[in-house]
Formats: sequence, structure tokens, C-alpha cells
Amino acid sequence: MTALKLDRVCKSFGKVQVLHDIDLAVEEGEFVVFVGPSGCGKSTLLRVIAGLEDATSGRVEIGGAEVTRTPPAKRGIAMVFQSYALYPHLDARGNMALGLRQEGQPKGVIAERIAEAARILSLEPYLDRRPAELSGGQRQRVAIGRAITRQPRLFLFDEPLSNLDAALRMNTRIEIAQLHRTLGASMIYVTHDQTEAMTLADRIVVLRDGRIEQTGSPMELYNDPANRFVAGFLGAPS
Ligand code: ADP
Ligand code: MG
Repeated sequence: MTALKLDRVCKSFGKVQVLHDIDLAVEEGEFVVFVGPSGCGKSTLLRVIAGLEDATSGRVEIGGAEVTRTPPAKRGIAMVFQSYALYPHLDARGNMALGLRQEGQPKGVIAERIAEAARILSLEPYLDRRPAELSGGQRQRVAIGRAITRQPRLFLFDEPLSNLDAALRMNTRIEIAQLHRTLGASMIYVTHDQTEAMTLADRIVVLRDGRIEQTGSPMELYNDPANRFVAGFLGAPS
């Protein structure tokens, strides 16, 4: 089954076209990384997949169902942002519960799902703390925990590590890789960090000016970049 299918997806803001005819299929369980320079359209593409922005034209399919005009909450996705996007007045538990409450999940289910996410991410000691009482890494784990509790078919990560220092970045990257193995869910991960792309991806999608420049496994892109642009991002030093 295909987790995500994009057909000729275009996105414009006013007269400015930011995404041009994006075609992409992500398989069930696949870890796909989008890379490309700042402003090339990575976040916009993720937001179109999430339904936070509507495609100007083209078609979005998630888990075999067309969702081009479906609201975000009904797409079976969960998104993790660079900025964590936690509510400051709620503790970690409250932040993780919010989406499930909005879905109308019963209390018992909410408690179970939070316990499960907290166990996976070693967040048990921090559930009663508000964001201000957590470190950056703990906040990001709460944001990831919130995504896990939704049991999405597809996880979307937008540069989730870029606010963390180097050591924490490595730890959290390893946790995300473990999470992918544990859950077997499909993941799309945006980064401009070569190490993250090379170590996490089953497949890398290189974006440039709102177009897909090249797609392939990390080794394919490293050994056989289509052009200097891709080589500059991921290729072997020449
Ligand atoms: P990236 O995530 O790769 O850095 P973005 O997807 O954030 O790139 O942005 C791609 C382009 O779209 C940029 O030129 C940006 O200014 C523009 N853009 C993004 N969001 C909006 C918006 N809401 N309104 C107008 N322009 C936008
Ligand atoms: Mg971005």
C-alpha cells in the first residue's frame, strides 16, 4: 500500500508559485527525507501534505484515500515542528492529551496512549511539568510524544532538531530512528542537515526552487548525484 501519493501538486501564494508539479509516492513504512536550501519549499510541501495549506492544483492521497481538500485532523497524519508548538499553560500530559480529546477519545484510551508514548520516549518523570519547566530536548520529546499518541499512519517532521545543541541533536536523531523501527510507520522528515539525511533516510528527495531535483537512496545520491547542485548537498567530495 502507498502511504502517500502526490500527483502534480502545485502551490502558489498570490502570484508566486512555490511548488511546481510535485509527483511523489511514499511506501508504507518508508522513511523519506526532504532536503534543499532555505526557501526551496520544503515546509510548504509538508504543510500541503498535512492539509495546513491547500494545494493550488494537483492531488494528495494518504493511505489510498484522496485527501486533497480534507482538513488536517482527518488525514491520519501527525506533524512535529521545529518550534515544538506546545501550549505553555498545559503540562506535558495535557499537551499530549489535547488532540485526543478533540478527537473525542475516551479518558481511558487517552491515559493509555500517553503512558505508551511516555514509555517509548522515557518521558514518565516529566508528565506533570509545563514546557517552561522542561529542557529543549524534553520539549521536543513531548512534541514527538504528542504525535505518537495520535497513532498516525504518516509522521511529518519539519526540522525537528534544529533548535537543539549538537549532542542533543544526535541523541534525538537516534531516538527518531528507533521510533521508526518500533512503530513501522511512514515518516517524512525535512532537514537541511546532511548527516540527518544520510543516516535517517531510506530515500532522499532533493528539492530546488519548488521542484524535485533528484530522488534516491542516500548511497545513490552520494555516489551518483545528478548534478553539481545535488553533489553540493550530499555528494562525495570531488
Ligand atoms: P523552506 O522550508 O524550504 O525553507 P518554505 O516552504 O518555508 O521553504 O518557503 C518556500 C517559499 O514560499 C519561500 O519563498 C517563502 O517565502 C514562501 N512562502 C512560504 N509560506 C508563505 C506564505 N504563507 N505566504 C507567502 N509566501 C510564503
Ligand atoms: Mg522550512
